Amino acid sequence: MPEKVVIIGSGPAGWSAAIYAARANLSPVVYEGTVKPEMIPLGQLAFTTEVENYPGFPFGNVRAFIESAVSKDRHWNLPPVPKGEEQDGQPHYAVQGVELMELMKQQALNFGVRVVSDDIVDIDVDNDIRRVIPASGEPVATHTIIVATGARANYLGLDSEEAYKNKGVSACAVCDGALPLFRSKPLAVIGGGDSAVEEATYLANLKDAATIYLVHRRDQLRASKIMADRALTHPNIEMVWNSTVSEVLGDGNLVTGLRLESTVDDSTRELEVGGMFVAIGHTPNTAFLQNKLQMNEKGYIQWTEAFRTKTSVEGVFAAGDVADDYYRQAITSAGTGCMAALDAERYLAEHNL
Ligand code: NAP
Repeated sequence: MPEKVVIIGSGPAGWSAAIYAARANLSPVVYEGTVKPEMIPLGQLAFTTEVENYPGFPFGNVRAFIESAVSKDRHWNLPPVPKGEEQDGQPHYAVQGVELMELMKQQALNFGVRVVSDDIVDIDVDNDIRRVIPASGEPVATHTIIVATGARANYLGLDSEEAYKNKGVSACAVCDGALPLFRSKPLAVIGGGDSAVEEATYLANLKDAATIYLVHRRDQLRASKIMADRALTHPNIEMVWNSTVSEVLGDGNLVTGLRLESTVDDSTRELEVGGMFVAIGHTPNTAFLQNKLQMNEKGYIQWTEAFRTKTSVEGVFAAGDVADDYYRQAITSAGTGCMAALDAERYLAEHNL
């Protein structure tokens, strides 16, 4: 018997789709990925520290709740409790990315969702009954597929950048910029597109913001004029034109500066900053879907009907960042994951499957 719903991906979109599909008695199976770049178990949030903007998870005694909710055999995956504030002898903090994802996974498991720790490397959508092809194991027949494989932030690719991830290097100012680690420090944003400008403006508007350097490899922003003007005229934002980062500098624990190289001459300089936000675009995890589903010029899956998660192939739905190069938030991913499960449920009902 074919599966009713196969979900590919295990970020907020994947788990939300799984929870909704399970509660609709569709007995979904989730392929959660392995540690290959294309499909990271628990998605991009697995790389995030505290998540302060996911509704329903205010600052508090988070760990006590998580330990009560997540089954003991998954506690090994919980990150250390952040050092910081204590109240009544208990640590208080905002939920961490991995914790939030373990909670979502647990909620799906509680409703009987089956989870397979494997990557899907191909899909076959030529027949009414679709098939997903795992990296190991036999193809799996299914009536519907929900693709929720996300997108990954592009980084510069420097060893020093890798070494300081979560220690002052981030790819999301809106997620991380307000953390104590960055407070009142000069910071650098790398890139010249709308995201870079938005991130720089966000950081510059934070309470107690110091100088925000916007480091761009050319002398003109790619960002739309209205956004660019906002950065160019902001009193806290200083443009660093014609420059690329050749090294992230630090004291072993935290970022202390950047070594910059000019793109127009041989000069180099050091910029003293307490953090670097890389905003040079994202890459959707769609390589395994080439020529199977309609995508935009950047490789994001295209929804074929406004406000529906339908793709160019009937019975195949897309949710989360894999179909969204604009909002890219955990909460929007979770929302479209829910929509995809409802769309799959309606498709199955309409086709008496
Ligand atoms: P983007 O438009 O592709 O811009 C990427 C920027 O990063 C470019 O300025 C590019 O430089 C630079 N870059 C790329 N690779 C680099 C490298 N290796 N080293 C240094 N710099 C590098 O990406 P985005 O800013 O993430 O925007 C993505 C989409 O979302 C766009 O359509 C954008 O309009 C939209 N968006 C809209 C809003 C909004 O309207 N509020 C906010 C965010 C994003 P070059 O310019 O030299 O190529």
